[in-house]
Amino acid sequence: MLWKFSQRAQAQKSSVIREILKVTEQDDVISFAGGLPSPDTFPIAEIQSAVNTVFASNDVYGALQYGPTEGYAPLRQWIADYLSHRDQVAVSADEILIVTGSQQALDLIGKALIDEHDKVLVESPTFLGALQSFNQYNPEYIAVESDQEGLIPESIDDELAKSAKFFYTIPNFQNPTGRRLSVSRRQALAVKTKLNDLVLVEDDPYGELDYRGQRLPALYTLARENTVYLGSFSKILAPGLRLGYVVANKLFISKLVQLKQASDLHTPSLTQYIAYQIVSKNNFLSQHIPKIRQLYSTRCQYMLHSLAQYMPKEVHWNEPEGGMFIWVELPQNMNATELLREAISRKIVFVPGETMFAQRDKTNCLRLAFVTVPEEKIDRGIKILAEIINQHIKK
Ligand code: PMP
Repeated sequence: MLWKFSQRAQAQKSSVIREILKVTEQDDVISFAGGLPSPDTFPIAEIQSAVNTVFASNDVYGALQYGPTEGYAPLRQWIADYLSHRDQVAVSADEILIVTGSQQALDLIGKALIDEHDKVLVESPTFLGALQSFNQYNPEYIAVESDQEGLIPESIDDELAKSAKFFYTIPNFQNPTGRRLSVSRRQALAVKTKLNDLVLVEDDPYGELDYRGQRLPALYTLARENTVYLGSFSKILAPGLRLGYVVANKLFISKLVQLKQASDLHTPSLTQYIAYQIVSKNNFLSQHIPKIRQLYSTRCQYMLHSLAQYMPKEVHWNEPEGGMFIWVELPQNMNATELLREAISRKIVFVPGETMFAQRDKTNCLRLAFVTVPEEKIDRGIKILAEIINQHIKK
C-alpha cells in the first residue's frame, strides 16, 4: 500500500530520544538518556488504594463515563487551590484546563497560535518534544540567547517581541540544561513581555523538584495576563497517568477547549478521579515531593562526583539545583552524536544535544539524566563515557 501522507506527516521525524530508548530496553545498558522519572518514586500503594476507593463508590460511574473537556471539576478546583497557596496568587478553577499530559498542551498551543512562518521564540537549547509539537505548524524559530543563569531577557529585541507569536520557556531546571532562571531575570522577562504584548508559555514540569525546596516566583505570577502556565503530574505522581494542566486567562482556555474537543474530547476520566483521590487526601504531595527531591538530589550529587573524578579537564558541565538533568559541553570540535554511536557499542546511552537546538547549530553538547540510574551504575557509566571522550581528545 502506498500511503498518501500529508505534507505535515511527511515532515514529521521520529524523535531521536524515542529511537535511543529502544536500545535501552536491553538489560545490560546503562542509560543516561530518557527523561523518565524514577519508578522508585511512584506512589504505588496510594494509587492502588485510590483505584479501590473510586471503584467502591458511586464515583466509578463518573470515572468510566465521558466527562467535560475542561476536566474533572473537583480536580480543577484542587489544582486552583494548590497553586493559589503555593504561588501566592488567586487562581480560579475556570482558568484551568486538564490535559492529557502537558505534551498535549504544547500541541494545542501550537494549534491555537501558530500559522505557517510565524515567529516563535525558544530557548537554545530547548525541549525536543515542544519543537516536535510546534514543528507541525511550521513556525520560524528564533533562539533567545542564554548563559549559565538561563535565558537573557535583554537579548530579546523589542520589535521581535512585538511580532512573535509567543516565547516558549522552561524556567525551572530546564530540559535539557538543568538551568534555573534567576529571580532578577524572571522579573526582567515579565516586564519585557508585558510591554510588548508577547505571550509567554511557561512550561514547568520540574519546578517542584527543587532539591532545597526553595521555589522561585513563577512567571505567570509576574506576568499574569500574558502567560500560559503548564503544570504536570508526571514527575510528582506518575507519567503513565498522562495528567497535566494549563493555567491561562478564560478566553484562551476556551479556545484550547474547542481544539481539545477535536483532539480527544477530554483527558481520561479514570486517571483524573484517581489522581484527585490521591492528592486531595492528607496533603499527600507535601509528604511525597520531599522524598523525590531527596532521591534526585542524592543521585545528582553522585553523578557530579563521578564527573569530577573521571572527566578530562576540557569537558564542562553545570551543577543543577533541582530537576533531572546535567548538561555537558565537550570541546568545540567534538560531535556528541558520533560519540553516541561509540558509547552504544559500550552499552552506554545519553542524548546528544544537537536535536534540542531549533537551528541544530551546536553539536558538542549532551544531556545526562541521572534519576533512574542506581549509584553504582552512575559511577561505572560515567567512567566509560569519560574513557571514550578522552580517547577522542587524544586523537
Ligand atoms: N515539558 C517538558 C519540558 C518536559 O520535559 C516534558 C516531559 N519530558 C513534558 C513537557 C511532557 O510532560 P507530560 O508527561 O506532562 O506530557
